[in-house]
Amino acid sequence: MSDYIGSPKWSAARLLLSAVGLCVGAALVGCSESGEESGRNYQAVPDTDWIVHGSNSEETRFSRLAQISTSNVGSLGLAWSLDLPEENALEATPLAIRGVLYFSGGFGKVYAVRARDGKLLWSYDPKVGEYAPSRIRVNFSVNRGVAYFEGRILNATKDGRMIALDARNGRPIWSTQFLRPNDGAISTGAPRIMGDKVIIGNSGAEMSVRGYVTALDARTGKILWRFFTVPGNPAIDRDETTRIAAKTWAGQWWKYGGGGTPWSGITYDEKKQLVYVGTGNGGPWNQEYRCPNNEDNLFLSSVVALDANTGAYKWHYQYNPCEIWDWKATSDIVLARLKIEGRTRDVLMQAPSNGFFYVIDRDNGKLISAEKLGKVNWADRIDLETGRPVENPEARYGYKPAIVYPSAYGAHGWQPTSYNPLTGLIYIPYMQYGMRISRNDGSDLHDSSNVQTTRIGANVEGYLDPKDPMDGRGSLIAWDPVKRSARWRVDYPTGWNTGTTTTAGNLVFQGTNAGTFYAYDARDGRRLWAFDARLGIIAPPITYAVGGKQYVSILVGPGGTTGENTLPEFAQGWKYRAQPRRILTFVLNGKARLPDTPPPDKSVLSLERPAMALDPGRVGRGMSLYHRACYSCHGAGAASSGGAPDLRESGIASDDSAFAQLLRSGALVEFGMPKFDDLSDPQINDLYQYIASEAQNHGTDRGH
Ligand code: CA
Repeated sequence: MSDYIGSPKWSAARLLLSAVGLCVGAALVGCSESGEESGRNYQAVPDTDWIVHGSNSEETRFSRLAQISTSNVGSLGLAWSLDLPEENALEATPLAIRGVLYFSGGFGKVYAVRARDGKLLWSYDPKVGEYAPSRIRVNFSVNRGVAYFEGRILNATKDGRMIALDARNGRPIWSTQFLRPNDGAISTGAPRIMGDKVIIGNSGAEMSVRGYVTALDARTGKILWRFFTVPGNPAIDRDETTRIAAKTWAGQWWKYGGGGTPWSGITYDEKKQLVYVGTGNGGPWNQEYRCPNNEDNLFLSSVVALDANTGAYKWHYQYNPCEIWDWKATSDIVLARLKIEGRTRDVLMQAPSNGFFYVIDRDNGKLISAEKLGKVNWADRIDLETGRPVENPEARYGYKPAIVYPSAYGAHGWQPTSYNPLTGLIYIPYMQYGMRISRNDGSDLHDSSNVQTTRIGANVEGYLDPKDPMDGRGSLIAWDPVKRSARWRVDYPTGWNTGTTTTAGNLVFQGTNAGTFYAYDARDGRRLWAFDARLGIIAPPITYAVGGKQYVSILVGPGGTTGENTLPEFAQGWKYRAQPRRILTFVLNGKARLPDTPPPDKSVLSLERPAMALDPGRVGRGMSLYHRACYSCHGAGAASSGGAPDLRESGIASDDSAFAQLLRSGALVEFGMPKFDDLSDPQINDLYQYIASEAQNHGTDRGH
C-alpha cells in the first residue's frame, strides 16, 4: 500500500474534498466562478482544474474530486455535447483550466470550449497540409493534447511546430520548428511542461526516423536542448547518445533511422529535476540491420532519465534489448511513492507494450518488479538481478514466421493508465492479441524509388488462436503494484479501448472502441454506470470542477493507429464522416440528449466501376505498395474503420484518372490526404487495381 494517504499532501486533499462538498449545498457559499473563461489569471487552480496532461505532475490521472462518487454516479447524465465536424480520430486528453476546456483535434488543430455549456470560444487551425504536405504522409493525423503555461496554450502540430497560442483568443504568439528539417519525423504527442521549459518527442520509427526529444523555453520557444534516443553515424555525429550507445549497435543502422521515437509518454520529476522519456521500437524491425548478434541497441524500448535542465543522460532501464517486435515504452509513465517490503521508495510505473508491468526505482533506474499482465510468450520472466528478460528463443523470429504474444499493438497501447492512492491500484487498458511475424527479403528497405513509405524489413499479421476465447478481447485490469497481481478485471468483447481516470469518489472511468463510456467502483470493479456514445472512443476521460460542480469530459472519435485497422475484430462499423465526432461532458443529473447519430455500418457500398480486367501481378504489387504507403490511414485490405475514407467505396478511387490526379496534385491535403507526387504511373495503376480488387471481393449492397 502507498503511504500517500498519510502524507501532509493528502490531508490537504481531504480539506479540499470538504470544500467542494460545501459548494454543492444550496447556498453555494464561497463558490465564485474564480476567473472562469476570463483567462485574466494565469494561475490554473490545483485540484479542481485538470492542469496538465496526466492531471498532475506524477501523471497519475487521479482526481481528488469526490462530488461524483460510487453512491451517486448512477445519476450521471449528459450536460452537453459539441460536434466537431472536421475531426476523425480523437486521442487528446483535454485540459480544464478555469472553466475552459482546451484540446487538440487532428494534426494539432486546437479548440477552446466553455466547460459549463459547451460553447466553442475559439479554434485554431495550424494548416498542416499547406505548411508541410509531405509530413502529413507519415501515419495518421492524431494528436494527444496540448499544454498550458502562463496563459498560453502550447500546441505541437503534426508537422513539428510548437505554437504558443493566447489562451483567451487562440492568437499565435510564437512558433518554433522543433522537428529537424527533412528528417521524415512527425509529432503526435502532448507537450509536457518542465518548470519553465516544454518538452516534446517525435514519431515515425517505421519510416526510417531517428528518435529524439526537444526541450524549448516555454516563454519564448527557443530550443534549449535535444536528446537523441538512438545513436547516429559514429563517423559524423558527436551527440551524447552516439558517444555512449553506438557500441551497442551493429551494421549501418543510421541509414535506416534506428527508431526509438519517444512519441507519447514523458514525465517530469520536479523533485529530482529529472525527466523520464519512454522510447519507441527499433527501426527497421528486422534485427539483421542493427543487432544481428542480439546487441542491446540502446535506448530502444527503454525509459531514459535525463537532467531536465541540460538534457544530459542520467540512467536508463531497457525493457527489450535488441527490440524487434514493434514494442515500445511510449505509454504514459506514472510516478508514486510505494512502500515495498517495508521500505518507502520513489518509483515509476509503466506498462510498456511487451505485456509486463514494471516498477522501477526513480533514483537509479533499478528494476524493482516486473510481472506478466496477461498472455505473453516471448519471455518466461524478467530476471530481477540483471533486469533482463529471460527470452523464449522462438520469439526472436527469422525468415520462418513466429507466433508471438502480445502483438505489435501491445498488450497495452498508448492509452493512459491511472493510479489511485486510495485503493493502491493502477488501472490498465489491456488487450490480448497475437501476431505472426517473420523477416522479409529486405526489398522494402532497399527500394531505391525514394517513395516515402513504411520500411520495416518484416512481414506481420494479426493472429488469434481460435481455441482461446480471450484472444481478440480487451480488459480493464486493476493491478496492485505492491502485491504484483491483479485485484480485479473487467473483460470486453474487443480491444483498443480508452485510457482510464480514477477519482477520490472511488471511481474509474473508461470508454470503449465499441462506443460505451463506463464508470466502475475502483475498489472491486463493480459496473456502476454506462452511457452509449454511439461512436467508438479512444481518448481518455478527464474530470474537473467549475462553479462548485464536478464534470467529466471525453472526446469521442475512433481510429488513430495502424493497429485498429489491421484486425477485423477492431472494426466496429464506424464510418468516416458518418457518425459525428464530438466532445461530451457529464454532470450529476445532466439531462441533455445526444443528437441523432447514424448506427454502426459494416457493409461496403458497391460502386459502378468501369469494366476492367484485373492483372494479378499488378494487384499483388499494388497490395504491397498499399500496405507501405496507404494502410496506416485507410486500413489493411483497404477497409478503413473510420479514421479515413474506406477506399473500397470511394468515388475517386474507382475512377482511374481522378485517382491519379488526386495523388499527384495533393488537392485534398487540407483534409489530410497527402500528396504522392513521387509515385510513378505504373505504381499508381498498381494501387488502383489492388483497391478495385478489394472492392470486388468485399463490396455488398448497403442495406442487404
Ligand atoms: Ca512502431
